[in-house]
Order: sequence, then structure tokens, then C-alpha cells
Amino acid sequence: MSKINLGIIGGGQLGSMLAEAAKKLEIRTIIYSDDTNAPAQNFCDDFIHGHYSDKEKILEFINKVNLITYEFENIPYETLNEINKKKPVLPKPSINRLIQHRLAEKDFINKLNLRTTQYASVEKKSDLDSLNDLLPGILKTLTMGYDGKGQYPINEIKDINIKNIDFSKGFILEKKVKLKKEISIIITRFGNNNYEIYEPIENIHENQILKYSKIPAEISENIFNQSKEWATSIAEELKYIGTLCVEFFIDRNENLYVNEIAPRVHNSGHLTINAYNISQFENHIRAVCSLKKIPLRKLSNAKMVNLIGNQIKPYRQNMQLKDNEFFFDYLKKEIKDKRKMGHITTLTQ
Ligand code: ADP
Ligand code: MG
Repeated sequence: MSKINLGIIGGGQLGSMLAEAAKKLEIRTIIYSDDTNAPAQNFCDDFIHGHYSDKEKILEFINKVNLITYEFENIPYETLNEINKKKPVLPKPSINRLIQHRLAEKDFINKLNLRTTQYASVEKKSDLDSLNDLLPGILKTLTMGYDGKGQYPINEIKDINIKNIDFSKGFILEKKVKLKKEISIIITRFGNNNYEIYEPIENIHENQILKYSKIPAEISENIFNQSKEWATSIAEELKYIGTLCVEFFIDRNENLYVNEIAPRVHNSGHLTINAYNISQFENHIRAVCSLKKIPLRKLSNAKMVNLIGNQIKPYRQNMQLKDNEFFFDYLKKEIKDKRKMGHITTLTQ
């Protein structure tokens, strides 16, 4: 058994899959979550329940681990920064702070000369009056959004009055991109110019929630190369350690845009568990724990379907699977609408 005790903040499906990958590498995992029903407790070696600002509980967690990583970005910066004074936190807290804030994230991407949609900061309702050029657009909370939460499509200025939007929080208004396609790149960086990158993944969202992913993505060679280059330059600029995902838009004129960065493993990369020799989860663990980097090898094409809400039910009742189908149940206690409950990956020709 290795001597590494890895702390993971967050106890959802990504935490579960990280813990499983760590087990394979004989690394012990201790998960910290604010959810008493966190599904990752089924997969880790030790579990601590506490709020993300509970200093005592966090200290108990720090004392049990050698280093810490996280499965989601909405963790208070102060918490990650305090932890980092005692034990290494990877990816670095400053990276998480940058990316969890949509405006700072977009400014950062533009500074790298990479394209994003046009956007503007909205601090109060009247700021919208001068932003007609960004319509139709999407108003998004600056922080804490995921799976389309905290987003309001705005077609015309008068839409603002219909919607009950609390302007005491900060917002960003993004011009809507006329989407042809969405893709993502998953990259694991181990150090300077030392990384493994997965091929572009094509994604389809329904109601702003990821529904389908597949490789190969049906994209031009140009977009294939450009998306990999952009993701690599983002990871290098951040001096990132671990697995990172960049979500992209492709518009109807074949322009590539960075949509957002996830400083963590990502739902669109679930198919890497079955389609590659090393999954995005194992690569993340290898990178943050300074283990050996193994050359990435694709084993098969694949597609993944998210099971949202009730869609999990038939699969839980012993649905027959073919040899090339892999069912994952996140073991969430309660089935909820719009909640990701599991997924199926199918290996394809
Ligand atoms: P989340 O943090 O919830 O993933 P995203 O900003 O990635 O938020 O938005 C979720 C989805 O909503 C995107 O994958 C895309 O389908 C759609 N979307 C968001 N912003 C835009 C935009 N500016 N133009 C077109 N579609 C968008
Ligand atoms: Mg997204």
C-alpha cells in the first residue's frame, strides 16, 4: 500500500470516480463534503462531513492527508488558501479563484488572445441599457453556476422586467453564439510542457445540461488542432497541475470560441474510463500525486449518455447491457429532476 493519503473536497460523482481511480493506484482517499448523503462515501476510504467554512472540521481533514485536490470549483477561495498553507492544494487555489469567476475567467482567456463570445459586466439593472449589441444574450451569475443554473436568456431588454432577477449579485452578459457544435478538450498537465491530451469530444446539451458526448467529434482538422493548441496554452499559462477541461463553441462560420474552463475532471470525459488506457481521473491522480506519466493510448471510439432524473430507473432494475455498454450508477440517494444520476458509455467502431 502506498503511503499517500489524498484528500478530495467534494463528494459527488466526480469525487467517486477520482476515489475509484486512486484505489487502483493504491492511494488512500479521504473525502470532505458538506452533504451527508454524498455518494462518494461509497468509494473513498474515509469521509468527513462538514461545511466548506468549518475551520475545525477542515483542520481534522488536513491532519489526515498529505495533499488535497477537489472535484468542483465552487469552494470558497479562503478555504482552499488556508488549507494550502498547511498541505499542498492542487490545482493551486489561485487558479480556482480565477476560474470560478466568469468575468475574471473570460478576461484571462482574452489576454491569451483566444476568442470568447463578447461579454460585459452587469452590476445593476441599468447597465443593461447600453448593452443592446450583446443581445440576444445570456445573463449569468458571476459565480456558483453549473448545469445552466443561474443563467437567464435575454432576447430583448424588456425580458429583464419579466424575470425575477436579483441584481444584488454580480452578473455577466454574454452574447449568444450561433452554435453549430460544442466540443471539449481534456488535458492533464504534469509539469512544464509535460502533459497528456485527449482528442476533442463532441457534446450535446439539453436544457443547458450535458446529455451526450462522443469521440471522434465530427469537426474539421483545423478545429481539431486549434482546440488542442488552445487548451494546451491555457494549461501552460496557468502552470496547471492535474486534469483540466476546456469547453468550446464552434459557430456556423467555423469559428472556435472558448466557452469556459473547468479546473477539474469533467462530465464530458467520462468516456475516457472505457475508451482510453488511462482515464481523465487516473491521470488527474497521477499528476497531483507526482506519479509516473504513462503515454495515452485510445482503445476505442465511444459515446456517452447522461442519465438524468428518472432516466436511471430502468437501468437500476437490471436492464440488460450489451458487451460494449458500461453503466455507471452514481448511487445518489434521491432521484431529482435535472440531476445527473448516472451514465452509460458505449464503445463504438
Ligand atoms: P455551466 O457552468 O452551467 O456549464 P455554461 O456557460 O457552460 O454554464 O453554459 C451551459 C450551456 O449553455 C453551454 O454548454 C451552451 O450549450 C449554452 N450556452 C451558454 N452560454 C452560451 C452562449 N454565450 N452562446 C450560446 N450558447 C451558450
Ligand atoms: Mg459549461
